[in-house]
Amino acid sequence: MSIFSNLVAGEWVSGDTSCLNVSPSDTGDVVGDYADATPAQVRDAAAAARIAGAQWAVAAPGVRADLLRRIADEIERRTDELGLLLSREEGKALRDARGEVARAADIFRFYAGEVVRMAGERFASLRVGVSVEVLHEPVGIVGLITPWNFPILIPAWKIAPALAYGNAVLFKPSELVPGSAWALADIIDKAGCPKGLFSLLMGDGAVGRAIVENVDAVSFTGSVATGTAVAQLAAARMIPAQCELGGKNPLVIAADADLGLAVECAVQGSFLQTGQRCTASSRLIVDASLADRFTEALAARMGQLIVDVGPSLETDIGPVVDERQLEKDLSYIALAEAEGARRVTGGEPLQRATPGHFLAPALFADTHNAMRVNREEIFGPIACIIPVEGYEEALDVANDTEFGLSASIVTNSLKLAQHFKANIRSGLAMVNLPTAGVEFHVPLSGMKASSYGPAEMGHHAMRFYTKVRTAYTFAA
Ligand code: NAD
Repeated sequence: MSIFSNLVAGEWVSGDTSCLNVSPSDTGDVVGDYADATPAQVRDAAAAARIAGAQWAVAAPGVRADLLRRIADEIERRTDELGLLLSREEGKALRDARGEVARAADIFRFYAGEVVRMAGERFASLRVGVSVEVLHEPVGIVGLITPWNFPILIPAWKIAPALAYGNAVLFKPSELVPGSAWALADIIDKAGCPKGLFSLLMGDGAVGRAIVENVDAVSFTGSVATGTAVAQLAAARMIPAQCELGGKNPLVIAADADLGLAVECAVQGSFLQTGQRCTASSRLIVDASLADRFTEALAARMGQLIVDVGPSLETDIGPVVDERQLEKDLSYIALAEAEGARRVTGGEPLQRATPGHFLAPALFADTHNAMRVNREEIFGPIACIIPVEGYEEALDVANDTEFGLSASIVTNSLKLAQHFKANIRSGLAMVNLPTAGVEFHVPLSGMKASSYGPAEMGHHAMRFYTKVRTAYTFAA
């Protein structure tokens, strides 16, 4: 089997070791063998990025926008093929995988537009004849380190703004899903990206660390533990870090909620995409007056979900990403029962036509917020119902967590909705919507342990991908 190389300083180069990319839907299906970048390659990539980045920073905005548009067009043209690849390597249901690819194209197109919306500001001065301008300059070389659960979307929402705002990029995808990242790098290269401006450096955490040691800023998405290590290393080097981390997101079902809508929000947020979303709703905080009816209706709806191989249009929920994550999910299912939670449905490994990591989505009832299953991020298709007496208690429970990424309330009361939006301690606040599902033209950021540094996406991304320079001019 040939090995997929890294793109280093404008050349495709192999390494000393490589990593097999195996489908979680069928462990006999090897997607490919992907080279690990060496420390010397990371340094070579940084040296080339320094040179190419200096030219890119002063390139005509139209040139930058054109590159991003060409990348968007090619991703869009290959949506079905890339969707299948993504679904094979990550396990995501084919419909979701295609949707993710299409969204990646949208993001490159959005940031093509951002190139000319990169405005500065002009201020009055305290002095006569002086003007003051605030200018935005590229940061330089940015390191982009991504997780496995959105193999093309998260790379897109970091690479597109990085290039749009004039930076060079060292990109490391998760070692579990290098296939979509490799395809994206190939598209970027073939779209005419200047040699050395963008490097693909595949491999594990050691490659990630080497990147942080060689860049001017780092944008990381992943777990709190790794993000903490990345932020500490960045701080030791005095470079900016942007870290988007985990969640333990609450979905509040108020006493006046539309039951059907509440069930759909729970299904969408807790179980689709195998619950492997940082914004997944793992805590279902339900007013006690409708807890029994909600539990029954949700369990019935869960019974309709098709759990099967990712690459199928029939599948609602694909497999868990790998054996290690499946074991983690099963250990939390056992823990929930040991802690006294009542298993309503699901939670058992499933056999399908091919050997894969299939798990029936699990619902637990009669839980409380002090249980470990309600405090630690599991990252699987597992949700716990926490009954509460009224909205005030629901809000207290929702906020009683170290995380603060997304939160939602299902209610027909405008008063409760407004109060929730103002008082929930999370970066995303949803009303009558699932906790998962964000748009690319507005900021994404969490509070508390879920986030560190400036928000990602939308125009806000400029705050991380540029530095400001304040220019004073006297013209008498
Ligand atoms: P992870 O932290 O294990 O790995 C993330 C990336 O960091 C990978 O590319 C990995 O190789 C790399 N890495 C590992 N050690 C490193 C080190 N010491 N230095 C630099 N890089 C290192 O996370 P994961 O398992 O890939 O992803 C799941 C996590 O991501 C969950 O916690 C989830 O909540 C989070 N996530 C957050 C968001 C968000 O926007 N907040 C979005 C998606 C996923």
